[in-house]
Amino acid sequence: MKVHTLYATGLIWLSLFSVCASAQDNLNAKSLESLEDVSALREAGKLSEAKAGVLLILERSRIDENSLEMASAFSELGYILEQQNDYMQAFRSYNRALDIYTQQQRYESIAKTLSDIGQNYRYRASYKQAFDYLNRAMELYESLGNTLGVARQQLNVGLVYKSLGRYEDALSSLTQALRVLRTNDDTESVSLCLSNIGDIYRDMGQLKNAETYLTDALTINKQTGSVQQTAKTHQKLGDLYLEMGRFEQARLHLNQAVKKFSGIDAPLDHERANVALAQVELAVGQYDVGLTLLQQALLRATDGNFITLQTHIHQALANAFLEQDDYDTALQHAQKGLLQAREREELATQAQLLSVLVDIYSAQGNYQQAFNSLLKKNDVLEQVVDRDNTLIVRDMQTEIELDRQAQSIELLRKNRAIALAEAKQRNLRTSMVLGGLIALLLVIFLLWSRYKERQLTRTLKREVRNRTQELEVKNLELENAYRTLEQASLRDPLTGLYNRHHLEAQLPGEIQRCQHAHASGDAKQGNHDLLCFLIDIDHFKDINDVYGHLAGDRFLVQFAQIIRDVFRQTDLTIRWGGEEFLVICRYSSRDLLVDLASRFSESVRQHVFELGGKVRCNATCSIGFAPIPLDKSKPFEHNWQTMFALVDYCLYAAKQSGRNAWVGVSDVQSTMSTATESGPLASKFELSGARVSTSLNNLASIAWPENPQTEIPLES
Ligand code: GH3
Ligand code: MG
Ligand code: MG
Repeated sequence: MKVHTLYATGLIWLSLFSVCASAQDNLNAKSLESLEDVSALREAGKLSEAKAGVLLILERSRIDENSLEMASAFSELGYILEQQNDYMQAFRSYNRALDIYTQQQRYESIAKTLSDIGQNYRYRASYKQAFDYLNRAMELYESLGNTLGVARQQLNVGLVYKSLGRYEDALSSLTQALRVLRTNDDTESVSLCLSNIGDIYRDMGQLKNAETYLTDALTINKQTGSVQQTAKTHQKLGDLYLEMGRFEQARLHLNQAVKKFSGIDAPLDHERANVALAQVELAVGQYDVGLTLLQQALLRATDGNFITLQTHIHQALANAFLEQDDYDTALQHAQKGLLQAREREELATQAQLLSVLVDIYSAQGNYQQAFNSLLKKNDVLEQVVDRDNTLIVRDMQTEIELDRQAQSIELLRKNRAIALAEAKQRNLRTSMVLGGLIALLLVIFLLWSRYKERQLTRTLKREVRNRTQELEVKNLELENAYRTLEQASLRDPLTGLYNRHHLEAQLPGEIQRCQHAHASGDAKQGNHDLLCFLIDIDHFKDINDVYGHLAGDRFLVQFAQIIRDVFRQTDLTIRWGGEEFLVICRYSSRDLLVDLASRFSESVRQHVFELGGKVRCNATCSIGFAPIPLDKSKPFEHNWQTMFALVDYCLYAAKQSGRNAWVGVSDVQSTMSTATESGPLASKFELSGARVSTSLNNLASIAWPENPQTEIPLES
């Protein structure tokens, strides 16, 4: 330990003296008196000046070794070195500070330095040690009663989880930290938190959410003025826009990032921004420029020993060479990257690289290898999905718990006997929420008012027993439902959309809610309709037949993304079957049906589907739709089976009328039978006053099928 410390100190003094002479020149006559001046320079991004200043202070405090001033100077030197991506020297500097603080028993400073070392390990991808140091810092802060310190460690731990792809744990740590940081007005940490939550959403494919969080973070960065953080957020926004295909915005942010990083002399971050710029060039078809930029970056990343970045560049190069049909070179890069990702146990990166391998082998016609890589990728994905599913199940659990409480309250409201007891025991009213408790209170009440009529007493007791039993049965049903849900997988693995299990759990409650809203007149004040769209891709089979099943899968993934883009996050988006999708919009208005159907059709028509290699194609789809309830004045008239059969019939009509079309019922007003009766539809579903809408020229152009299809979608 002693030898180690001596060695570290020796190294630091060595670098100190070598820089000191030039530091003196740099600073000229202007002298830096205090560490505050140095921190200010660092925050303004003037790293060389800050470094020269801190080295002068270290030289000056050498007379009194182990002084607190010296310890603070070592910490400051660590921050500067880290921003310049010289992580090993920073690590030594922190350890020197830690030694002094420990000798002087400065507990707050010890905690802060443990945290600095933990973060330093994270930058070097040594996650185990990072956890160890951050936890030690957290425990120390806890024992000192410093809640802000604890929250900052939660933030740091969240960042480690994020690097390991453990998104559930990461989100949980970050949101916990965010709450405390906000109340303490620690804006810098708040923006760090926001931008990392943004990153996680991006990794989970929720790009719009990611954009919101990152833009918020940038706004705060611009106010607090830390050059490094601002540069990092620009970088992240650039990466995001690249992924979203918004190349101009990507370029704008990445150029800002490059400018700021080179200003503070941070080679790793600077290189990262360069790599992203290269990818923008590749994406807009400038292959030569992009490839050259990437290869130069790889050389510099190798020189600087930036391992994570090397992997990232290998992946980018593999993709670029695959696009250029240079399979051998692509293969070399993908394999190198995969090896590095395995060494660091980064699951998400492994899965991405295995995907690239599958594409390369398929393009080479080496199907056996492609299949092997696919199996490996599935293995890795299963580990990732295991984590994602826990997250979904926990969300469901919260929703179910809310439903359960809502139902208990509903039962209580209907219980007239309990209402009577409530009236007589007003002071206890707020406590009478659970049936069991009410039973108890009623017994006390009944004992107290023994002189009341015996008849009433008996009725009350019976009522209470019935309600309590009813509650117990309901609770049991809900628990069973919860267990079934937990077992069922709720998402379609290919597209990431929900599957029928999810619909079965959600839809009955949604339909009841909207029927009751209409029946009670609440619907007049707001959007209480459910909008139901059944979407089927036109001639999808041809895509499989011509380009292969793998290309068909890629098509489906992009089609699902269009659904996510057009509809809201709160809508139920379901993969109904092979190439059929069901969307239920909640809290909506039937006036939007036509607009949504035409917007969606248009988005599909406009999209260029990438099928792998260089194959691209356009496509169309057909849509059937209707609102729930069909007739606002008779909300209970039609059940879900009928609704689904109706929407399916409309879809079928769109198909028969030549495809690339939508047909739907936009409203039914049975009380005012209009002239727009649509023969076959009205008679098959016994509707009067139905308003039919279509993208075809007129209603007469709809080729209604002879028989509606009869698939029964759900028990309800
Ligand atoms: P139409 O316009 O009448 O809807 O014609 P279509 O070709 O789209 O419809 P059809 O029902 O004849 O063919 C659907 C095809 O979808 C057949 C099936 O092989 C394919 N399919 C179903 N699920 C998947 C899947 O997960 N991946 C791929 N690649 N193909 C799928
Ligand atoms: Mg189809
Ligand atoms: Mg179909």
